[in-house]
Amino acid sequence: MAKGKINVAVENIFPLIKRFLYSDHEIFLRELISNATDATLKLKHLSSIGEFKGNLDDVKIEIKIDKKGKKIHIIDEGLGMTKEEVKKYINDIAFSSADEFLEKYKDEKNDSGIIGHFGLGFYSAFMVGREVEIHTKSYKENEDAAHWICDGSPEYTLKKSKKKERGTEIIIHVDEDSLEFLEDQKIRELLLKYNKFMPIPIKFGTKEIADPKHKPKTTKDKEGKETTENQKMITVDDIINNPNPAWTKQPSDLKDEDYNEFYHELYPMQFEEPLFHIHLNVDYPFNLTGILYFPKLTTNIDIQKDKIQLYQNQVFVTDNVEGIVPEFLQMLRGVIDSPDIPLNVSRSYLQADGAVKKIASYITKKVGDKLNSLYKNDREEFEKKWNDIKIVIEYGMLSEPKFFEKAQKFALYPTVNDKYFTFEELKEKTTAAQTDKDGNLVVLYATNVDEQHSFILEAESKGYEVMLLDSPIVSHLIQKLESENEKIKFARVDADSIDKLIQKEENQISKLSDDDQGKLKVFIEEIVPKEKYTVQLEALDSNSNPFIITQPEFMRRMKEMQQTGGGGMMGMGNFPEMYNLVVNTNNDLMQKILKAKVKRSEYINQALDLARLSQNLLQGKELTDFIKRSYELMN
Ligand code: ADP
Ligand code: MG
Repeated sequence: MAKGKINVAVENIFPLIKRFLYSDHEIFLRELISNATDATLKLKHLSSIGEFKGNLDDVKIEIKIDKKGKKIHIIDEGLGMTKEEVKKYINDIAFSSADEFLEKYKDEKNDSGIIGHFGLGFYSAFMVGREVEIHTKSYKENEDAAHWICDGSPEYTLKKSKKKERGTEIIIHVDEDSLEFLEDQKIRELLLKYNKFMPIPIKFGTKEIADPKHKPKTTKDKEGKETTENQKMITVDDIINNPNPAWTKQPSDLKDEDYNEFYHELYPMQFEEPLFHIHLNVDYPFNLTGILYFPKLTTNIDIQKDKIQLYQNQVFVTDNVEGIVPEFLQMLRGVIDSPDIPLNVSRSYLQADGAVKKIASYITKKVGDKLNSLYKNDREEFEKKWNDIKIVIEYGMLSEPKFFEKAQKFALYPTVNDKYFTFEELKEKTTAAQTDKDGNLVVLYATNVDEQHSFILEAESKGYEVMLLDSPIVSHLIQKLESENEKIKFARVDADSIDKLIQKEENQISKLSDDDQGKLKVFIEEIVPKEKYTVQLEALDSNSNPFIITQPEFMRRMKEMQQTGGGGMMGMGNFPEMYNLVVNTNNDLMQKILKAKVKRSEYINQALDLARLSQNLLQGKELTDFIKRSYELMN
């Protein structure tokens, strides 16, 4: 038996370990299982090169809880350690790395969540243990098993162990303040969180299942009554993990069903099928595998709940992928697994890291390629999915210039009649009819088919196409498209009268004399509230409505952009609620208004309210009054 002192600069480092990683105590289990996994994989490697001859078919890792003895056991059948190796790897190297780690981060608050991941390794056992033991037996023949004990002071004991089987058993004597880790439920939860896809089977207890070799027999008695024999149950190991998750396989070995099945394995509470998946697989200039899914995004809550999970060699690290995955793709789901992402660093460092930047741009490129191939291979299907995926694509076009370029090929612009155009097609289809006298192509759009119904009809009667652009960030996207395409302007159908939106050379002739127009304007302005409406006389088609309320494109768009944030809109103050009241001088009602003696204000109010009604601007008392007045007019 040998007693020794661990080689450390800081006396009593264990209280420090506890304090620094307070919120992350639970990672001890992941660390120890990672070590057990490494030890098993190393032995498998030795076996593959003929250095080890035993059978490794059923190797597993086992977790046991001894509630009475207040102990947690982590047992592996890996390569084990000799006494010399324990000295070297546990006392010297492991501890010096823990020491270094603490030196480095003792000033930083544990705020990023990621600090501490994969830093402490074996010594994280002391986050929950007052004493830790190792029993280990090397795969090497003629080596004694070793038994290491350390009670949290820098002193340790190293002696012979009676352990017979190859591998390592770690025993944690759980501290009084960490007794929660002796609960089955707690350990199961941690195993499912961190180790659900680790490559070696992890056994935690046993479970009863129906004996697959036994089919219950049904027999009939004399009266024909049926009795079925009881199902025979057998006890089997309860294996927590799936050691071969889909992302570690070759895409050619997987069908769509397999991808969907894996999606539900990742997110057991998700019942919808994903729209499609993207299998990531690179090994140069960095290593990365994974599967991303485009979910059907319905509510904001959905986006927050089930996020992309980051793994390192099948060990769960975090579901906060900020800085690694471009922001617009954080709406997706799935897994990313990379040994090349530096984990024990702060978020700000991560964002500046060159390798991480490459990863982000690789992922962006892959997503762009996949969308492009979906579009090319089955456009009809792509159109069907468009409304469910557009928010991600539009957001990406706004935030990533490279993605914007790529998306030019497949981003779709639907019409109010369910036709889908690419930007090129849109230009082609509309240039002839919708180019105004200054040579600008005016793209007309609606955001709500019901609310803007009469305006859409008006535009369609002129032979114009009306797009349906209804996602919340569309005003930003339009702004971007206009700045990229000099001679293209977007206008919402209700931004002005249709003849004003797309102005042509020929001017419509007004039925009214200049004198009458002047009078009409005065009459209307006397009644219509000035602070809300700017009266604007126009000679429109005599069949067009007498009054039309419009909201200038610029004002409305700025306002929307302010509401959805970004784009330097902050601090510009609130835009007032202002409208134009377009008065159609060619509508017959104008004659009536001009000639009327007593009913003039009634005509004007009624026409104004009808215009407001068609823009959804009439509510409450004003609506009630309007209805009452309308009935009275009928009498
Ligand atoms: P790391 O895993 O990053 O090397 P750790 O502190 O987790 O650091 O472990 C230190 C070393 O101790 C390992 O590299 C390994 O050599 C040895 N070790 C730890 N756990 C085991 C185990 N279960 N079986 C064999 N060796 C182990
Ligand atoms: Mg380790």
